[in-house]
Amino acid sequence: MAEQYIVGVADVIAFLLGFVFLVRSWGLSKLKRAASMEFPKENCVNKNGNGEGEGEAVGTTEVIIVGAGVAGAALAYSLGKDECRVQVIERDLNALNRIAGEFLMPGGYLKLIELGLGDCVDEIDAQPILGYTLNKDGKEALVSFPLEKFQSHVVGKTFHNGRFVQRLRKKAASLHNVSLEQGTVTSLLEENGIVKGVYYKDKSGQLLTAYAPLTIVCDGCFSNLRRSLCHSKVDIPSYFVGFILTNCKLPKEKYGVFILADPSPILFYPISSTEIRCLVDVPSQNLPSVSNGEMAHYLKTLVAPKVLPELYNSFISAIEKKDNIRIMPNKIMAGAPHLTPGAFLIGDAFNMRHAITGGGMTVALSDVVILRDLLRPCMIYLMHPPFANISNPFIL
Ligand SMILES: Cc1cc2nc3c(=O)[nH]c(=O)nc-3n(C[C@H](O)[C@H](O)[C@H](O)COP(=O)(O)OP(=O)(O)OC[C@H]3O[C@@H](n4cnc5c(N)ncnc54)[C@H](O)[C@@H]3O)c2cc1C
Repeated sequence: MAEQYIVGVADVIAFLLGFVFLVRSWGLSKLKRAASMEFPKENCVNKNGNGEGEGEAVGTTEVIIVGAGVAGAALAYSLGKDECRVQVIERDLNALNRIAGEFLMPGGYLKLIELGLGDCVDEIDAQPILGYTLNKDGKEALVSFPLEKFQSHVVGKTFHNGRFVQRLRKKAASLHNVSLEQGTVTSLLEENGIVKGVYYKDKSGQLLTAYAPLTIVCDGCFSNLRRSLCHSKVDIPSYFVGFILTNCKLPKEKYGVFILADPSPILFYPISSTEIRCLVDVPSQNLPSVSNGEMAHYLKTLVAPKVLPELYNSFISAIEKKDNIRIMPNKIMAGAPHLTPGAFLIGDAFNMRHAITGGGMTVALSDVVILRDLLRPCMIYLMHPPFANISNPFIL
């Protein structure tokens, strides 16, 4: 996990340095000219019905954020706190019901605190986690997070992802300079290789255009925008099949369960005071179908015999419960960006590691901290005339 985490951060740093290098060599002369150039379309949202330019200006924005998941919502709050005017466009503002992003590692919780968002794990029935019991062939070992040097509240946190993200969104939207709206971004607005904003459809289906000198794309693992900003190779070595167990307790309080089974691992951890999440890793070849009952059969015959005896009955009941089984791909994507002035990519849209690491949110939050700190000294170019209304991409 630590290795993946370091790789994630290194990817971002490499990307940022590459971006700085690119725009430095390409953009310094432009920056000098910038003050005298007029922005043809204000930093604005245009309501024109076809998303193609002219229309009524309804606002100004320095940064557009696409997607208000873990990365987007945390970033919106951070940039908003730095007085930046941020427009966040999120496809679905309702609480998402997902099997992903339910276990925040202690390192991720520390990043959350660093961003001033530590209270987002309050009031959502989040559970404190100190580590895992590791089980193999009937033997058990206790693996604890190395937290000796930290205060007692620094632990892993598990929760319903949707509840956590709603808390992050609420904090971001509470800032007067952050606008959070429901809409689906359909494409980036690109002129001569420079991203100048986005085209999106609002809740009613109306096509709109939003302009800003910097667009940050955080539209997650099913991103439809990453292909224009990043090398698009994706590996799917396996799928996580997830369902919720009730009426049972894990063998050791505050510890998840990690079973090293054949052909692949099984995880259990609480996501509230009454619910246990089970994730079964199923190799990609010959993935059984949920709809025709093959998956339930696979889980009952091949996986259930490897489950701890005290969880067995709840495991079987959970499989039999209607619509309880969910599936998500475990994607591995290297962060290999095409450096594009005016745009950034972070979170799962940028890179992913296998979900079994439980590191995705920690990487996303860490990248938000890095990006916030790198952007801080540059904000003046975004926020103050004559730079704010220029026909230039964001230049670091
Ligand atoms: C099965 C599974 C289990 C996982 N478990 C863990 C775990 O336990 N711990 C952990 O740390 N990580 C886990 N992860 C990874 C974690 O979920 C991600 O790393 C994290 O959610 C990334 O945050 P994000 O903001 O990049 O993406 P997301 O949180 O997915 O947010 C993307 C947002 O963009 C919005 N969006 C998408 N397209 C558009 C569009 N066109 N226009 C506007 N909005 C759009 C979406 O609605 C969504 O709100 C898991 C992943 C998987 C697949």
